[in-house]
Amino acid sequence: MLIPNMNYSHLKDSYLFYNIAQRTKAYLAAHPDKHLYRMGIGDVSLPLCDAVIKGLHRAADDQARADTFNGYMPECGAPFLRTAVAEHYRSRGIALADGEVFISSGASDELGDILDLFDRSDRSLIIEPAYPAYVDANIIGGREIVHLPSSRENGFLPLPDEGTEAELIYICSPNNPTGAVYDREQLKKWVDRANANGSVILFDAAYEAFIEDERLPRSIFEIEGARTCAIEICSLSKTAGFTGTRLGYTVIPHELVRCGLRLNDMWVRSRTTKTNGVSYIIQRAAAEVFTEEGQRQTAENIAVYKENARTLMQALDTLGIWYTGGRNAPYIWLECPDKMGSWEFFDLLLNKAQIVGTPGEGFGKCGEGYLRFSTFGSPEDTRKAAQSLITLLG
Ligand code: PLP
Repeated sequence: MLIPNMNYSHLKDSYLFYNIAQRTKAYLAAHPDKHLYRMGIGDVSLPLCDAVIKGLHRAADDQARADTFNGYMPECGAPFLRTAVAEHYRSRGIALADGEVFISSGASDELGDILDLFDRSDRSLIIEPAYPAYVDANIIGGREIVHLPSSRENGFLPLPDEGTEAELIYICSPNNPTGAVYDREQLKKWVDRANANGSVILFDAAYEAFIEDERLPRSIFEIEGARTCAIEICSLSKTAGFTGTRLGYTVIPHELVRCGLRLNDMWVRSRTTKTNGVSYIIQRAAAEVFTEEGQRQTAENIAVYKENARTLMQALDTLGIWYTGGRNAPYIWLECPDKMGSWEFFDLLLNKAQIVGTPGEGFGKCGEGYLRFSTFGSPEDTRKAAQSLITLLG
């Protein structure tokens, strides 16, 4: 008799975004004339920049002519894009070989697939509140999860201590949902712990492009010792608006060896078995992001989201509400006023200020009492939402 992967039955229903959608729908049905300020979801609102669009068009034309047509792409990524990504790291002082960069269809795909490299008995440490996919991918894989709750007291940036033994360590910095960013000294502690224990850090750098404080690390490989204990998973989704275009990259250093096996070699084997590469057209467009012009244009888009963050942070400062994030991340994680619960505050904002946030409780139990604002909306909506917030709570 066939037995399906019973771990799926252990997944909790993804009630967070469903619940938000239901409450939002009910509000709009009762108030059809109202406009909602949607600051809940983490999807971008600005279109792809001009350099990327031109790259897409040129690549589409390449596919129309026999002499420039491309069939299957190399499974680990087109050499031109692996080089462009590696060069991007090298330009920031991080020594990386092209063969250490793997091109993917996005960070989500990789965060799930990468678990193939590890034994089922390896435990996963997840710092909470957390991006829900970490938890679910590990439940599906039947892995033991070691939950490490964080709090306002440690700035939502917990450090390794005796109670946190695990073979795999997820670190997301800048963090979704809290927007908190580890500094070099803090990351060094995680790296040292991982090297001492033989653990592997899965470093999610999806929001690295939002770091403006130059003292903060944008890559785990800025930290000494990381090449023997870390894998970095990154994405152009938020950096360059590729949420619907899809492109990510994963860095696995050659020195990362466990039980005599090189994880880089294993990943080559995995990719050549399980994928046939990412679309040529998308890879060409992605390469444009790493050109001088692409970097300038994507930075312009990020600046728009950063201005949104400043608008919201000013409103919160005016109201004396505690928050983290916003400065080096596209998320603001705020404490609900008057000791309100996450959903209570969500309902208040929806009903009285037409603002849709994301209740912190949806990212793990220790997120109760907090709410996340995304800064990816339009500047006009963000300004009006900030004003509406001040009117409601001021
Ligand atoms: N990692 C984090 C922390 C995210 O917030 C997201 C998307 O919101 C992803 C990864 C997924 O990125 P991608 O669009 O590349 O799959």
